[in-house]
Amino acid sequence: MKKHYAMKGRELVLRADGADLTAADLDVLADACGSLDRFAEASSEIEALAIKNIEDLPEGYRREPIRGYFAVREVGDIGQCSRAKALMEWRQLTKFCGRCGAPLKDHGTQTARVCPECGNMIFPRIEPCIIVLVYREGKILLAKHVQRNQDIYACIAGFVEAGETIEQAVEREIYEETRLRVKNVRYFGSQSWPFPAQLMLAFTADYAGGDIQLQADEIADARWFDPNDCPASPQPGSIAYRLIAAARR
Ligand SMILES: [Zn+2]
Repeated sequence: MKKHYAMKGRELVLRADGADLTAADLDVLADACGSLDRFAEASSEIEALAIKNIEDLPEGYRREPIRGYFAVREVGDIGQCSRAKALMEWRQLTKFCGRCGAPLKDHGTQTARVCPECGNMIFPRIEPCIIVLVYREGKILLAKHVQRNQDIYACIAGFVEAGETIEQAVEREIYEETRLRVKNVRYFGSQSWPFPAQLMLAFTADYAGGDIQLQADEIADARWFDPNDCPASPQPGSIAYRLIAAARR
């Protein structure tokens, strides 16, 4: 089903009456709030508007953080919204050719941008990230990140670096953040996480050795918790939530 999204940064604009946005709503919001970009993609059945000013919405609309939206929507809607957000970010950051500097144009038929000067084609960017829940005798390892303003404990996560395998990224991130070694790394699932372009690849692993030593600039605390008695954890709609929920069974 075709979905319409209006967004700015990490927030969506929703109708206050709870109904889905329509193309007419995007027109209203573009007029009232200004439009930075608007695009439609037939294959994914999305149309999205990036608005200039989200501070002063017209009557009948409200703001909602995209992550909060994910927490209460169906998987299909989350997928469409993720794609709209990811493509919007990519379009806003992909305006000039990295090879020759000329302004890019939309490709006529594909979701890509093309350089009219040198023919360079640029496709939407995806950044693979690993996220891992480590088990030790029925307990799970959760960490509190220095940079997050929320006071939450979450799974170890990080970007896959150039030249390494996903498995190496799992072992490296755990070691860097906590100095622990792991074994039995097992694939759990994945999720698009367009903040701005991550593909989250989730794993579980078993403790293999070492004592927790925190990486000072990144991790404020890391501990083993009983999965049924752990502090505030990520909200529904995220793969981190699913990892921790699976540990409770
Ligand atoms: Zn070029």
